[in-house]
Amino acid sequence: MLNATFGAPDLTTFAGLEALGPIVTGQRIAADRAVLECRVAVIDDVCRDCGDRGRSLGTQSRYLAHEPFGCRPMTLLVRVRRYRCDPCDRFWLDDLRAAADPRAKLSRGGLAWALRALVVDHLSVSRIAAGLGVAWNTANDAVLTEGHRQLINDPARFDGVAVIGVDEHVWRHTRFGDKYVTVIIDLTPVRDRVGPARLLDMVPGRSKAVFKTWLSERHPSWSQRIEVVAMDSFSGFKTAAAEELPTATAVMDPFHVVKLAGDALDQCRRRIQQAIHGHRGHAGDPLYMSRRVLHTGLELLTDRQWDRLDALFDADDHAEVEVTWGVYQRMITAYRNPNRAIAKADFAALIESLRTGVPATLVELRRLGRTLNNRAHDILAFFDRPGTSNGPTEAICESGGGWSGTGWSGWKSGQTPRMSAASSRRGTPDRGSGLACTS
Ligand SMILES: [Zn+2]
Repeated sequence: MLNATFGAPDLTTFAGLEALGPIVTGQRIAADRAVLECRVAVIDDVCRDCGDRGRSLGTQSRYLAHEPFGCRPMTLLVRVRRYRCDPCDRFWLDDLRAAADPRAKLSRGGLAWALRALVVDHLSVSRIAAGLGVAWNTANDAVLTEGHRQLINDPARFDGVAVIGVDEHVWRHTRFGDKYVTVIIDLTPVRDRVGPARLLDMVPGRSKAVFKTWLSERHPSWSQRIEVVAMDSFSGFKTAAAEELPTATAVMDPFHVVKLAGDALDQCRRRIQQAIHGHRGHAGDPLYMSRRVLHTGLELLTDRQWDRLDALFDADDHAEVEVTWGVYQRMITAYRNPNRAIAKADFAALIESLRTGVPATLVELRRLGRTLNNRAHDILAFFDRPGTSNGPTEAICESGGGWSGTGWSGWKSGQTPRMSAASSRRGTPDRGSGLACTS
């Protein structure tokens, strides 16, 4: 960036609005939301019937949820002008279609962000709704519609695909349980370092049958070109891939592997919390207060966070949490190691250590160890195939930026592992740009 030149600050381009039509004319920044007041750049006052200019009737306001800035939802308040042609008795409004569909609650920038957040960054619909500052149903409907619109508009999306990722998302919470959608993405551009993942398809449900049916509908020449299928721990996807794509390699991607360890850590913390206090975590309980810092990658910890962990692990009855935390951190450290051969060996050793000798009381680590051992081949396959990850690892680990919101602050850069907060102490904390939005 030595030769970078700077333009004058300009909210319209900063907010990505130059292609969408509105021009920012004002701002209202609050702690929980930013509102940009806009007007439509092009005055559209010519009557389509007679060609004369219409009479302005003032403006009406339209709110559009836009791509959030950091953790703060950003709303566009567009002042849309109304016109009337008296001779033709005709009313119309400024043309806002470049910025949003008629009656849509999200701008096109907001929609694109939401879809990327779901497909690439694995944000839940609730997090997407929070990011946009809209209701869950609004976010859900918008993402579903936009996903299908993009699919229909890109019939060539299946061309040149060699690496696919398959993943399940909770789509809708109902009184009868959650509904799922299976999302299939093209990871080839990620592996080849030429672009982000692309959405291939979204199929209702999550089961072996869903994915197997989808694969069987592809042309054999397409299936033969698939080299790698990245997936989560759901064994149905693994079986479906093995049956329909026998020559492809299954890779269990880091995002889901680390999530399993993170879940084990949370479950252990809750169990110990319950055992010590006899109730769920309250504000003020040390374990509950540490629930986020436990998930933070080692070298991202601030001095204060280290102190909190030290204090937490000084208590003998927190030892099981400390051990589980150590496994979680060891896993992240291995994934973060740029030397893939060493990383693979470290990870293999970790899996082996969890296969035998985990005390029976550590039920979460035992369960984790069983899963990792069952899928060891698929987990270790990742280290031989860089870039074949379904999750936001590429976005955060390698491009190093972006709004993750998924608690992935621990993924950046590499540093030596630390197995206990009470022993070897303190590197230089690198707070990292993706840190702010962890939940
Ligand atoms: Zn007219």
